[in-house]
Amino acid sequence: MNQPLMISLDSLAQPIDFAALEAAAKSGGCASSSCGSSAKPDDMDADVWERIKDHPCYSEEAHHYFARMHVAVAPACNIQCHYCNRKYDCANESRPGVVSEKLTPDQARRKVIAVANEVPQLSVLGIAGPGDACYDWNKTRATFDEISKDIPDIKLCISTNGLALPDHVDELAAMNVDHVTITINMVDPEIGAKIYPWIFYQHRRWHGVEAARILHERQMLGLEMLTARGILTKINSVMIPGVNDEHLIEVNRWVKARGAFLHNVMPLISDPAHGTHYGLTGQRGPTAMELKALQDRLEGGAKLMRHCRQCRADAVGLLGEDRGQEFTLDQLPEAVAYDPAKRAAYREVVARERGDHVAAKQSAVAAVKDSAQEGGTLLVAVATKGGGRVNEHFGHAREFQVYEASAKGIVFVGHRKVDNYCMGGFGEDATLDGVIAALEGIAVVLCAKIGDCPQDMLTAAGITATDRYALDYIETAIGALYAATFGRAIEQAVA
Ligand code: SF4
Ligand code: SF4
Repeated sequence: MNQPLMISLDSLAQPIDFAALEAAAKSGGCASSSCGSSAKPDDMDADVWERIKDHPCYSEEAHHYFARMHVAVAPACNIQCHYCNRKYDCANESRPGVVSEKLTPDQARRKVIAVANEVPQLSVLGIAGPGDACYDWNKTRATFDEISKDIPDIKLCISTNGLALPDHVDELAAMNVDHVTITINMVDPEIGAKIYPWIFYQHRRWHGVEAARILHERQMLGLEMLTARGILTKINSVMIPGVNDEHLIEVNRWVKARGAFLHNVMPLISDPAHGTHYGLTGQRGPTAMELKALQDRLEGGAKLMRHCRQCRADAVGLLGEDRGQEFTLDQLPEAVAYDPAKRAAYREVVARERGDHVAAKQSAVAAVKDSAQEGGTLLVAVATKGGGRVNEHFGHAREFQVYEASAKGIVFVGHRKVDNYCMGGFGEDATLDGVIAALEGIAVVLCAKIGDCPQDMLTAAGITATDRYALDYIETAIGALYAATFGRAIEQAVA
């Protein structure tokens, strides 16, 4: 088992002990023999890697260490999506568009500085609804202008439906916005008309296929303009069974041809309580396995993002956690001053831990590839609170990260939320039933600790759960599990 370094990142979800971080950063010593190991994929340009290596959404590896925050400053929107209702708010719910408070650019500035001073993992500031960052442009620009003066190294991101995007691409480039997400759910206006009832463009409303055609043309133009300026793009597509699920294969082809850096296929979240058209008309979202099956079919096309958490529009923290409630307006000081020390110290510590993690991961992946047998695929769910380790109690997990071990190595393939739809925590059989349902298709659950009762219930459902690999790096644990599994029964491997 790998021992955690002097400063473990197990506590990433907790308030950071700054004194310990600073001591580690200044110590100069490194427990690892692998400092300097790079997680840069072999087929990636060094310049691109430099731009994404601390971005939790653009690099799956970075999401173990770095955090994002969203500020809801641009509430106006120029289209209507059938999956959106901008009025809905639930503090416990994590899904796009949901927000507890909208901010002015000045309030956003105070909030970002307060978060940067307290959450040293912070690397990205995004404007991601509710509303459209390009349509409500003046507020987007004012917010980024203000914050980048105070925190020049923070990465600026926007999400947009694309309709107003072409009007602002040059300004985005001038403002050093290096990452742009466009939601593209169709490239066929006939399908688009089933997703978008109307758009507002050139001072009037458009409906039906005509509206979808305009939106499609503006999305493609915006994407091409961003690519031409070297801005990295991520395409979000909402998978809507029976509407655009098969069609997303075509979408993937189109966006790849136009230089998209990532394609993020996300499941529709639909519930009558959300008050959306789809929720009220019974349109279902895909199951976890349906989503995975589509993503698997898309492999080989535009590079996939599989670790998206469909965050709230005011999310703060590592992906999969939300510390937004610690930074509501009423808790912010009137005057704030940015102190870069914590973020700088944190980065030094991460650089060391990350080098060690990369070496461990490479070794585990190579071992799995070497020992893989025909049909030897293992789907593993991991309870983690960051740092790339098996370090979360089963009963505290709000999500599980899912990895597939096979002849391809050890690949992150998604996550399963278990607190979605306000499930409200474990302890009751009904809730555990929900967790078991969310773990559909999983063979083994790895966690730092698990009680006898949930372990027995998982076993009865055909899922093996173990804390045998507690605190190991995730890939190290899966590699050991894989080697032990093929040749013996899983139960023996974890005994
Ligand atoms: S573009 Fe965003 S804010 Fe506008 S309707 Fe669609 S999901 Fe809602
Ligand atoms: S919604 Fe997805 S892409 Fe956006 S911040 Fe969350 S994880 Fe990243």
